[in-house]
Amino acid sequence: MDLHATTGMDTRLSVGRRGFLAAGAGAAMAAAGLSAPAYARPARPSRPRAPRARNVIFMVADGMSAGTLTIADSVRRMRDGKASAWCTLWERPGARRTAQKTQCADAFVTDSAAAAAAWGCGFSCNTGVLNVTPDGRQRLPILAHARQCGKATGVVTTTRVTHATPAGFCVNIPHRDLEDAIAEQMLERGFDVMLGGGAKHFPPELIARYPNLKVVRTAEELRAAPPGRLLGIFSRDHIPHVVDRTEKIPTLEAMSAAALDRLAVAPEGFVLQIEGGRVDHAAHDNDAVSLVHEQLEFDRTLEHVMQWMEGRDDTLLIVTTDHGNANPGLTLYGRRGEESLHRLLKGTRSFETMLARIARGRKERELGRVISEVVEEGTGVALETTEVNMLASVLQSQRVMPFRDANNATSVLGSILASTFGVAFTSPNHTSDMVELTSLGPGSDALRPVMHNNEVWQVLVQAMCLEPARLLPGMDQLIRLNRVEGD
Ligand SMILES: [Zn+2]
Repeated sequence: MDLHATTGMDTRLSVGRRGFLAAGAGAAMAAAGLSAPAYARPARPSRPRAPRARNVIFMVADGMSAGTLTIADSVRRMRDGKASAWCTLWERPGARRTAQKTQCADAFVTDSAAAAAAWGCGFSCNTGVLNVTPDGRQRLPILAHARQCGKATGVVTTTRVTHATPAGFCVNIPHRDLEDAIAEQMLERGFDVMLGGGAKHFPPELIARYPNLKVVRTAEELRAAPPGRLLGIFSRDHIPHVVDRTEKIPTLEAMSAAALDRLAVAPEGFVLQIEGGRVDHAAHDNDAVSLVHEQLEFDRTLEHVMQWMEGRDDTLLIVTTDHGNANPGLTLYGRRGEESLHRLLKGTRSFETMLARIARGRKERELGRVISEVVEEGTGVALETTEVNMLASVLQSQRVMPFRDANNATSVLGSILASTFGVAFTSPNHTSDMVELTSLGPGSDALRPVMHNNEVWQVLVQAMCLEPARLLPGMDQLIRLNRVEGD
């Protein structure tokens, strides 16, 4: 019996969440009367093989709750006079929608590593683990598999290239935080295009081992890059939020266009993962301004991909997210709803930047005054004295929010600004909600209305008719796993 093929996640876990986590997935399953391991790959569907997809484009708006998609769509309708690309995609003939379950092997609320690994290898992994199942076995991720079968491969992200979501398609690593090791394995495995942030994990001595790898570090260098293997690392850490970015750094759309141009000439086709990774970070921060701009950037990128696919019938497109996050929603009635979105679009700075400025400013000046100035400069909102005091209190480690998990500066600021921007959040954490998955192209007919994330891998493999994977050298070794928390 497959754990995730049932809809009984809550009834199954009569042992309770605490027992589930403490005892491990195997014990919880035994307690619930289930026999298969929690990380079991679902059985091969009996349906006939779908038409062959030469290419797969897998797009992830990381940590995108339904409210995030809805707000971005509302902004596009209000500002641009047309629906979002994602909502337009739903109207395309042949487009399918799937409600995707996201629980990982050891938790109801997944992190990005376990979620990306479920897509990447078809097995549920523990929180924070990349393509190593709870029994310690290494499972070949989809990009390495596709490369074995002669396809070109690439990842594009606004996070560090070594971050959980791209890594989930590329590497076998027991802990997502081992990003130096992830960088090494990504280069060693020979993927063709890797674009994003995270230069700090690619030191010169590592890059020097790959003389045929072209490395670019600015938008201009990306535009001028010659053909061949390409690593683009445009910031030391994550790529800055859209609202904080300079023109030196390419947009997600520009990186994706460059990757598509390079991969499209591959004789056997390609697999490309594109991640709007900072949608998730803005949601964690309860930062509505950044959230909307990150999602709009993802949507422009999707629009570009849909244009690229126009007239083609050889490419499977999947657009999805790995989990909900903070569940934002526009929540003001009547005219106030639209007016609040107009106010939101005037924001010019992320919480990340504003709170860093407040941290610097408070060393020299009175905290309340610094808060007022920085928030007004970054959002156009003049805070009331009580609101300034709430933010000052949480910055001085006092309890302000009833929900303990939300008692941090970003959630307090997000909650204060909800009065103006109309977007309120439930928490600074991921959520267990089922999430949207939209698909179009050959092979998409295997995607059912409700699926678990670890069933999507099979659809990719079947759509491309990939030959069975061969383990890479060293992959037959078992890896001992320690429990971690992820985000
Ligand atoms: Zn996250």
